[in-house]
Amino acid sequence: MSDLRVRFAPSPTGYLHIGGARTALFNYLLARQQRGTFILRVEDTDVERSTQESTDAILQAMEWLGLDYDEGPIFQSDRFDLYKAKVAQLLAEGKAYRCYCSAEELEKKRELAIASGSSRLGYDGTCRNRADHSAGAPHVVRFRTPQSGTTTFVDRIKGPISFNNEELDDLIIQRTDGTPTYNFVVVIDDVDMRISLVIRGDDHINNTPRQIHIYQALGAPVPEFAHVPMILGADKKRLSKRHGATSVMAYKEMGYLPEALVNYLVRLGWSHGDQEIFTKAELIEKFNLESVGRAAGVFNPDKLLWLNEHYIKTGDPERLGGLLAEILTARGVDVAGGPGLAAVVSTLQDRAKTLLEMADGAEFYFRRPASYDAEAVERQVGPEQIAALEQLCTELEGAGDADHAGVEAAFQKVLATTGLKLGKLGPAVRIALTGGTASPSIYEVVTVLGCAETVKRLQGALKVFRATLKTA
Ligand code: GLU
Repeated sequence: MSDLRVRFAPSPTGYLHIGGARTALFNYLLARQQRGTFILRVEDTDVERSTQESTDAILQAMEWLGLDYDEGPIFQSDRFDLYKAKVAQLLAEGKAYRCYCSAEELEKKRELAIASGSSRLGYDGTCRNRADHSAGAPHVVRFRTPQSGTTTFVDRIKGPISFNNEELDDLIIQRTDGTPTYNFVVVIDDVDMRISLVIRGDDHINNTPRQIHIYQALGAPVPEFAHVPMILGADKKRLSKRHGATSVMAYKEMGYLPEALVNYLVRLGWSHGDQEIFTKAELIEKFNLESVGRAAGVFNPDKLLWLNEHYIKTGDPERLGGLLAEILTARGVDVAGGPGLAAVVSTLQDRAKTLLEMADGAEFYFRRPASYDAEAVERQVGPEQIAALEQLCTELEGAGDADHAGVEAAFQKVLATTGLKLGKLGPAVRIALTGGTASPSIYEVVTVLGCAETVKRLQGALKVFRATLKTA
């Protein structure tokens, strides 16, 4: 174990967004690379907006992506006593103070400041040096922020960043109802959990100087920071639902593999030469914050789809078969009585960009055709095909459990005796077995379906074909 301690700290106010997933991934990869510790902390202090449903959704998405953590999930809502104690400590040390200004008073002052064209719209410090503490009166607690000087940190992604302290007002650390605020609890927890590097979205950069002041007030070491640029849509606006799905689990529902999303999200803003495809082990070995770009990444759904296609093509058929079975079962397809799933997958891996496409292509293996594409029958099935299909039945009946070569031999025999080319017979077989005109290669289909099932389907189709031909 190294000293690296990082955390992912989602607020459970919605699903896991792909931007959040990328932040989680960067934390995870560095922790694994450096044999550090990855902590999951659920920031649920906003009781109004936090839900159990969101927490579950986030945990589920982390699991799906394979982002296992070493400590947690730790819930901030379990830690209010600690935060209260820390507020009390800062109050006792004079590093925080009670503020009795009412929301209405503050709003009035703000309006006056805006009207007078002032750029100082923050808290004016009315209660900073107040001596009388009307015990029991409603109040917030504010942090006594340094009023001069600068606060600088060297961001691991963005480089040095400085803020003038005079631009920062005295931050509320505890609300009137006694609950602590985000900027305060983040620091208390990061200190308590001995976080050494904070990797988070760059929407938090403006919070960082405020948080640094709190570390200093607590006498705690300030961690390093790495602010990850956000993800934009093609129109350069912040990625939102208008650009497509933003929830990690929506990609699962759309038939994406987690390794495709992981590969895509890491590459979005990080590069290693011109390599595009990385296994998780390679990412753990090669990922570094220094090669993360400073500018926002633009989400490219086509590239994600391309990666998904790659991982489907190269995936382990057994594993993909399990995933396929889930989808088919949810569609009401009984997979138990059909051919082996791994065999089915291996006939479809080259043709599907998503697992949903693969499931579309796989259904026929488990369901006999309910009807036959009439136009295709008209085009592809004539007396010659019917005679050939009859002969094929006979050949396959005697072929038992033929493998690919055995199936091919049976076809060759039929082609030789009928004088048909495969191009004239294949389409008719395909219609008979699947009901339509698209499927993997016909030898593969017959091999996977098995001779007995193929013969049954051919016989069923022949009845329909003969009837059709008669009425034509
Ligand atoms: N809970 C914050 C968020 O979801 C993250 C805070 C942090 O990482 O410091 O944006």
